[in-house]
Amino acid sequence: MIEKKDYSLLEHNTFKIDVCAKHFVEYNSEDELIDFLQSGKLKKTFLHIGEGSNLLFLNDYQGMVLHSAIQGVEVISELDDYVLVRVGAGMSWDDFVAHCVEKLWYGAENLSLIPGEVGAAAVQNIGAYGVEIKDLIYAVETVDIMGQRKTYSVADCEYAYRYSRFKKVENKHIFITRVILKLSKIEQYHLDYGSVRKELLKHTEVDLSTVRNAIIAIREEKLPNPCHIGNGGSFFMNPIVSKLKFEELKSLYPEIPYYELSQAKYKIPAAWMIDQCGWKGKRIGDAGVYSKQALVLVNHGKATGKDIYELAEAIRSSVKNKFGVILKPEVNYIGSDSI
Ligand SMILES: Cc1cc2nc3c(=O)[nH]c(=O)nc-3n(C[C@H](O)[C@H](O)[C@H](O)COP(=O)(O)OP(=O)(O)OC[C@H]3O[C@@H](n4cnc5c(N)ncnc54)[C@H](O)[C@@H]3O)c2cc1C
Repeated sequence: MIEKKDYSLLEHNTFKIDVCAKHFVEYNSEDELIDFLQSGKLKKTFLHIGEGSNLLFLNDYQGMVLHSAIQGVEVISELDDYVLVRVGAGMSWDDFVAHCVEKLWYGAENLSLIPGEVGAAAVQNIGAYGVEIKDLIYAVETVDIMGQRKTYSVADCEYAYRYSRFKKVENKHIFITRVILKLSKIEQYHLDYGSVRKELLKHTEVDLSTVRNAIIAIREEKLPNPCHIGNGGSFFMNPIVSKLKFEELKSLYPEIPYYELSQAKYKIPAAWMIDQCGWKGKRIGDAGVYSKQALVLVNHGKATGKDIYELAEAIRSSVKNKFGVILKPEVNYIGSDSI
């Protein structure tokens, strides 16, 4: 167990915002966490973080930051066609995907190279290239601030696009400790999304390793590596609009890209709208819009959380003025009462 005061969070957020937590606690097991919670040392204001790849700290955090260091992949049952594995919430998500590929377990490979930890992946319902983690989750193990353990079945997690019950403000007292995932032992892939098939043409055969490598290559080409340039991935969610709104936009902008979710709902790429407003590659001080992908905001060096926030607000207001669509941040704002 690690307990620190006035602890720098620079290495705990991929935007590389230089802020401190008044208190910081890291635990290695459920028992350690429960002992800590039952000792009464938890502060009234607290935040459980993962790797901080979806957080934007607006200022120093005056409460207590908690972090899980629970690691490990344990096979809990294995049949001819699938395997159930129990994974520590503090494990790096991409290390887990690499482990699946090595073991020839199918299902997680399209989610290769997504930053962050396993627990947060289940909070966020991470997704990429036609796969969401909810498709693989069997159950989620938790401990609440009273130190009570509870396991949620996947149906109880209320999964939707980048959403789960664990994202609700009233559920912030629930900490994910382990995630149980069901992976296939039968060879199967999801290749019909974006440029996955095209990238695979560079390989002589299609297997788990080549699919993972293709996904990694595509991502490395278009997304900035947080080790080199601070960022939080896609800053905004892709807005979902009504058929009426979609038809209005289509008549004004016939080239608008879209994805029909149902007869009544259409998803529009936020990146396209931001690009149309002329933001791609622009910067205000050290806060900028990535030159290869307008949906990603970056920290060119010494940007503060407020600098990034102000840039995001300027973008939202341009998109609202031009298209009448309100962008919602995918990144979680932390501090200043979360604005
Ligand atoms: C370059 C880049 C690319 C990205 N690409 C994608 C992508 O393709 N698809 C995608 O879906 N996302 C993507 N993301 C976003 C991000 O990687 C995911 O949201 C990821 O799951 C966040 O994990 P984390 O460990 O960093 O969590 P954090 O950012 O630290 O936390 C995220 C949320 O989870 C909560 N939380 C964290 N751990 C726990 C826990 N154990 N118990 C309870 N609550 C917890 C936090 O309070 C917070 O609300 C990208 C980010 C970056 C920087």
